[in-house]
Amino acid sequence: MSETDNFKKVIAHAKEYGFVFPSSDIYDGLSAVYDYGQQGVLLKNNIRNYWWKSMVQLNENIVGLDAAIFMHPMTWKASGHVDAFNDPLIDNKDSKKRYRADVLIEDYIAKLEVKIEKEITKATKRFGDAFDRKQFISTNPRVVGYQEKANAISARMAKSLEAEDLADVKALIEELEIACPFSGSKNWTDVKQFNLMFGTKLGASADNATDLYLRPETAQGIFVNFLNVQKSGRMKIPFGIAQTGKAFRNEIVARQFIFRMREFEQMEMQFFIPPGTQKEWYDHWKKTRLNWHLSLGMGEENYRYHDHEKLAHYADAACDIEFKFPFGFKELEGIHSRTNFDLGSHEKHAGKKLQYFDQERNESYTPYVLETSIGLDRMFLAVLSHSLQEEQLEDGNSRTVLRLPAVLAPTKVAILPLVKKDGLPDLARDLVACLKWDYSTTYDAKDAVGRRYRRQDSLGTPYCVTVDHQSLKDQTVTLRERDSMEQIRVTTKELPQLLEAKLNLKNWLTNLKD
Ligand code: ATP
Repeated sequence: MSETDNFKKVIAHAKEYGFVFPSSDIYDGLSAVYDYGQQGVLLKNNIRNYWWKSMVQLNENIVGLDAAIFMHPMTWKASGHVDAFNDPLIDNKDSKKRYRADVLIEDYIAKLEVKIEKEITKATKRFGDAFDRKQFISTNPRVVGYQEKANAISARMAKSLEAEDLADVKALIEELEIACPFSGSKNWTDVKQFNLMFGTKLGASADNATDLYLRPETAQGIFVNFLNVQKSGRMKIPFGIAQTGKAFRNEIVARQFIFRMREFEQMEMQFFIPPGTQKEWYDHWKKTRLNWHLSLGMGEENYRYHDHEKLAHYADAACDIEFKFPFGFKELEGIHSRTNFDLGSHEKHAGKKLQYFDQERNESYTPYVLETSIGLDRMFLAVLSHSLQEEQLEDGNSRTVLRLPAVLAPTKVAILPLVKKDGLPDLARDLVACLKWDYSTTYDAKDAVGRRYRRQDSLGTPYCVTVDHQSLKDQTVTLRERDSMEQIRVTTKELPQLLEAKLNLKNWLTNLKD
């Protein structure tokens, strides 16, 4: 199945099973805005919770915050967003489609990477066990050629964007003969800068209304509260402030479902550190965040780092953790060494000191900041797209199964009475009443039990518990595991313990590798 077909399946599954709906669906949707349905909201909450607990609850020196979406307009002048939060935009004159010029070039580079991967796959087959991947990559003339070309394009784009040389960005698109993916036309307009912030107004009458922006990132709410938190919480550097919340960006191209939305949610943590220690903390958080992803068991091979060549105006080092989405490796999370740019700039614009007196160093300074920033919706897509699988069964049938990490599954246990009579529903309801205090639990008595298993597989429910006539006699039930489809007979008494071992957050987060 092609990548596009796979992605379409994910989108269709998300709608059919109540995970994600287009916003204002009855009006045919709103571009790049989505609503989370009855299953989606649970999955989203569980991802947020997994992040929050690993950040705030498990780290003595990281605290939380919930800052407002509206902020004083000066915030965005100080942060650089008014002047520099732009994306390079290019239109195709024939198709009238609008693109991000840098994304067109990145997609071109991605195609070269696909070619490299194909060469490697071919060689792996040819050489079998004797294949030395590293040596092949560094010596095979075709692979070396593709890689050099990709590096040269990437370096030139970074240089032109850095220098705001938009004419050269267009020249690069023309030289590479990049065509509009929609129409195949190479008839491009010039590249222009486009500011991504949404403007709005605060105030009842038009005359004295204040121009505001919807925040394009949650980070600034943390920076302006740095001293409030540090003083009221008696925090000692190094310490972090974590926050989850909505952010808004008027994205030029938003055609990839919840990957790129105009209204989305971020989970950010700003870690305040002494100047000069940023390299060490950058390495620390790069590793720690990748380990968090790996703790979910979605395959080491599906993640990679991408170090930035073009740095944002505030950063002295930056990298992305990329995930293998159905449309290829793309950014999932950013780790940025933000220097003291933000706090320093707020000091200037607000005319207030945002300094910390470091007793060990016996000096005051404006702290440096290390940021980890992940999109909750993008993480949702990573989890959903990775988990959705079509599986061939031994009996010749196939099943759709959502192999969600059990700790994130919207519903943990489904209780199914074999038939709707003979007292089985009562016993099943008793089990729901007992388990629902600890786990999100559902009761389902409709259809044959096999079909109910399939439905729970499609929803990603890790465990089904079936109550049958024998249960009435000896208080045993069948526990069925989603991935292996294995069924074991257990007593209702031992059920909570068995579930606890698999579902307790602690068992997942203590697996965080150091
Ligand atoms: P991209 O290059 O994909 O536009 P970015 O580098 O601008 O992303 P950041 O500003 O670093 O993104 O934001 C941090 C995280 O927020 C990203 O890693 C991503 O997971 C998420 N994010 C950013 N923009 C969007 C969006 N439009 N929709 C959904 N998630 C987003």
